[in-house]
Amino acid sequence: MLTLKRALATLVDQYRLQTGDMDLCRAQFREFVHQIPLMYFIISWNAVAVAFTYRDHASPWLSSVFPVVLCAVAFARGSWWTRNSQTTFSDAEIIGHIRTTGVLAIVLTVAFTVWTFLLYPHGDSQTKSHLTFFLALTQISAVFCLFPLRSAALSVATVATAMFLVYFLVMDDGQMVPEAVMLTLVAGGMVFILYKYNSTFSKLIRSQYSLRQRHLETQKLSDENRRIAFTDALSSLPNRRALLSRLEKIADVQSREPGQLAMVFIDLDGFKVINDFHGHQFGDHLITEVGRTLNSLRSEHSMLVRMGGDEFALLIEGEGAGEDAKRFAAEALERLTRPVTILGRQFQIGASIGISVDADGMIAPFELLRQADTAMYAVKANGKNSIQLFDKALDEGKMWRHQIEQEIADGLGRSEFNVVYQPIVETLTGSVSCVEALVRWPGRPGGPLSPDEFIGIAEGSGTIQALGMYVLERACRETRDIRDLNLSVNVSPTQFNNPDFCKHVQQILLLTGFPPKRLQLEITERHLIDYPERASLAIETLRDLGVSFALDDFGTGFTSIAYLQSFGFSCVKIDRSLTKRLEHDPNAGFLISGLIQMARGLNVSVVVEGVETEALAATLRATGCKQLQGYYFGRPGPLRDIVGVETAGQARYAVA
Ligand code: C2E
Ligand code: CA
Ligand code: CA
Repeated sequence: MLTLKRALATLVDQYRLQTGDMDLCRAQFREFVHQIPLMYFIISWNAVAVAFTYRDHASPWLSSVFPVVLCAVAFARGSWWTRNSQTTFSDAEIIGHIRTTGVLAIVLTVAFTVWTFLLYPHGDSQTKSHLTFFLALTQISAVFCLFPLRSAALSVATVATAMFLVYFLVMDDGQMVPEAVMLTLVAGGMVFILYKYNSTFSKLIRSQYSLRQRHLETQKLSDENRRIAFTDALSSLPNRRALLSRLEKIADVQSREPGQLAMVFIDLDGFKVINDFHGHQFGDHLITEVGRTLNSLRSEHSMLVRMGGDEFALLIEGEGAGEDAKRFAAEALERLTRPVTILGRQFQIGASIGISVDADGMIAPFELLRQADTAMYAVKANGKNSIQLFDKALDEGKMWRHQIEQEIADGLGRSEFNVVYQPIVETLTGSVSCVEALVRWPGRPGGPLSPDEFIGIAEGSGTIQALGMYVLERACRETRDIRDLNLSVNVSPTQFNNPDFCKHVQQILLLTGFPPKRLQLEITERHLIDYPERASLAIETLRDLGVSFALDDFGTGFTSIAYLQSFGFSCVKIDRSLTKRLEHDPNAGFLISGLIQMARGLNVSVVVEGVETEALAATLRATGCKQLQGYYFGRPGPLRDIVGVETAGQARYAVA
């Protein structure tokens, strides 16, 4: 019973319009749009043929008026479909047309069949056989033309066959029964073929659809892959690859108007220390925040990318690109130097920014990137936290630096360098407890150069290793015999880069016999930020030997006094730029006394540098400073000027 019900339901289902699958509907529509005019043509032609056969047998109503109306309707529909065979219909229109066509096909079939039934009794045996032939032919061709529309074809086949069968079973005393049975069998065969054709057709459409879907998915996937490949996961900004690809596209364009391309290169100052000391979580938040800030400052025709690490670049295209780059750089610097709060903690960073502008429309895009990068490096080399517009002089400067590097290496071999000493004075007793060794280059053939200039260059190349060790060895030898005098020697961060740095210091201490307890190494705060891990490792190793460490130039960078302890510094040297502010800014006094208090709490001693006047010395003494250094107490000079003796070491190294 249940199987019968299910079979019946399946059968009824075959007569329903398949509007649930729009892809199938559209495909069916596309197919039958071309066949439907043919159906109307066959109906019309057969109607004409039947009317001709019965021209002398039936009333004019039946033999002329009816076929004319039938043909007119068929013709109107047929020509409408021909006209609209190329029209694009909406899904709703397609369903509407399928439905109308289905209904109209049944109506026309019924009308044609009823007309032929009305004519049939008026004919003789020959015209009757003509009529049955045309009727059967019309029904079969209508079904064939409606093949793509399963429900319409099935309905027409069923209605026409049923009418044919019923009519001819009772007409002419059953003489036509063989024809009726024959047509029924043919209709059954047609329905079977129709069913097969339709299921093959829908399978084909579905497989086409799934193929298209798969293609779309593949396309989507490759789009997504491309997006990932060109996006920085952390900041969600385009990445370096995206910038290079954009530059490549720009390079492909033959000519450019002057001033239509500019590049801004940004490198954060003080990021590394946040990342290394507070953890990547803070670093990641900071990068995201910086990305968001920079993105809010850029103009429409620009592309902001994260180049990697703490580097960002902005490419600006179009009129006024240069001006826009300068505006962006100024706003970015202002915003990035503001304190930021990340996960409840406040941080201060800065930015070194380089700008390059294609002023004459001739600079290759990749060259523009290099220039912006060079300008940014110039900022880094000159104290960071500023903006530099690229200038050819920067490239020339590079060549000059190259030359100096070579001169330093040659000068070391020719003993062109000298070491001078500056006293560090105890405020309570006025005695010199320590001297800072400072390198000089009096023997340079091209004329003297200040350490500020050549140390930076030596740091940029490998020569600082040899120069640093030369100063250390010479200072250890010269001061060794002056008991109770501590020695403070400057160390460059790049020296920490050398894995053998600690070993070399140890060797010099052994070679010179200098007591490690009297040696202090000075590291600038700026450098500490760049290489925090290496610095802390070297500090730890040498501290075990008894060497102590001072944080130099405190107050010029971004470290807080709290870092001091984590690194194991025993002394902090307050930079002379801060000391200078004491003369006109009362807040500087509070700052320095606050620093002294804090340092004392951490068991760290404080040296204030750059004391040039007695008044300043008195103020600092009153503030609680125990150690001072500056021109007021003595300029850097030979050791004998400070301690009044000439040591054996000094005589050995004396420069002609
Ligand atoms: P620094 O370590 O901060 O050294 C102190 C600098 O301040 C010295 O400059 C010194 O002459 C100057 N100075 C001291 N007191 C006063 C003062 O009262 N007023 C003013 N205006 N200046 C004062 P110098 O010798 O020209 O050295 C400059 C920098 O070069 C040093 O700064 C240090 O960073 C670097 N340097 C010097 N010698 C060496 C060295 O042997 N190795 C390394 N790595 N760096 C060195
Ligand atoms: Ca120093
Ligand atoms: Ca200093």
